[in-house]
Amino acid sequence: MIQKPKGTYDIYGGEKAKKLLYIENLLVTLMQKYNYEYFRTPIFEASELFHRGVGETTDIVSKETYDFKDRGDRMMTLRPEGTAGVVRSYIENKLYGGVMPLKTWYYGPMYRYERPQSGRFREFYQFGIEVFGTNDPMTDAEIISIAVNFYKLLGLKGIKVNINSLGDNESRETYRQALVEYLEPYIDELCEDCKDRYTKNPLRILDCKVDKDTDILKNIPKTIDYLNEDSKAHFEAVQAYLKELQIEFVINPSIVRGLDYYTHTVFEVEANVEGFGSQNVLCGGGRYNNLVETMDGPSTPGVGFAMGLERLLTALEFEKIELDYDKGIDLYVIPMSESEKLKAITVTQFLRLNGFSAEIDYMSRNLKNNFKQADRLNSKFVVIIGNEEVETGILTIKNNETKEEYKVKLDEIIDFMDKMLGE
Ligand code: ATP
Ligand code: MG
Repeated sequence: MIQKPKGTYDIYGGEKAKKLLYIENLLVTLMQKYNYEYFRTPIFEASELFHRGVGETTDIVSKETYDFKDRGDRMMTLRPEGTAGVVRSYIENKLYGGVMPLKTWYYGPMYRYERPQSGRFREFYQFGIEVFGTNDPMTDAEIISIAVNFYKLLGLKGIKVNINSLGDNESRETYRQALVEYLEPYIDELCEDCKDRYTKNPLRILDCKVDKDTDILKNIPKTIDYLNEDSKAHFEAVQAYLKELQIEFVINPSIVRGLDYYTHTVFEVEANVEGFGSQNVLCGGGRYNNLVETMDGPSTPGVGFAMGLERLLTALEFEKIELDYDKGIDLYVIPMSESEKLKAITVTQFLRLNGFSAEIDYMSRNLKNNFKQADRLNSKFVVIIGNEEVETGILTIKNNETKEEYKVKLDEIIDFMDKMLGE
């Protein structure tokens, strides 16, 4: 028997599928309300895009990509994240020529060759947003509030927002120097990866999962102590907007994010739920004012985030949150025998095309088993079609809960159901 690849999973109907679709629908409507545009970029891109867009020294690119050579000998990579593709599309389609800001969102599968464990898959889904063309701290606050409001709309309670600032290029550089100086005497005590990071990209050391509990990291200089005046003002404005929007947050100096292109605001939203485990970061993002230029586009400020769907589903389960999706169907149609099937399928189609969820008996069950099936499907009403119904065109409809029975003319069934379901 062939099995699914390690680190992947199937969704095979059931409650999980319903939850997922509910969440996806909520995303779509929320993005309409906030006036974001939907972007869809390829699932594979030239490998070079991620090397430049995400950064050679990141774990994602150095250890986790799915790379392959296509039949034309080109190096391709299954996208490990969404930002690089959206930025490529922004530049390639010259979207910088349009009205700013450009507010975009995407949703889809990402691929990372990681050690599979709870909350960590090799194929996983991300929802993300990217806003181009404005450096206004109001935007930083807006995107953080979108993530938080989305979780709140779903009913999640234990969420914690961590924010930090890396500052602009000047502040980042001052900080980098201070960091290198501070770390110099400790180089030998750092993990192997961090030794490498020390020369290539010392900021990444703050993100290390191996060294994170050592005294070296606990006493490491903080980025916010090295912000210049502009950067300080930007960070303070972000906080003022968040307070006004009633988004609770804490400043956490250890948040630097694992990607090379961040400037100013960086943030993570974690699930603060008992027993949730260590893979508790639901969402991360920040401002990346250098990225578009790095990718050969015109200098354009940008800000965005990406959130994982699997960890969100787990958090919802941990908090035992009931999502508000339809738990059953509106009508179950029963043909009494073979000869009423033609009529029954027509009635079912009519109901389905007029806004009702309807199911029919495909298994030629007897009446008793059909009522069992209607219960199993959580059907609100049952339509019974026997030869009398076919002759008269008057249907027998039963409320499956109260067992009350109604006689309804076929051409009045839509009005009748509208009334019954109170729409
Ligand atoms: P982590 O530190 O947990 O590895 P990351 O910094 O690699 O996270 P990002 O690249 O910022 O994560 O991705 C944003 C979000 O996508 C994460 O917060 C998480 O919810 C989700 N995510 C990242 N990697 C995975 C994965 N392998 N499986 C499931 N979800 C993931
Ligand atoms: Mg990771």
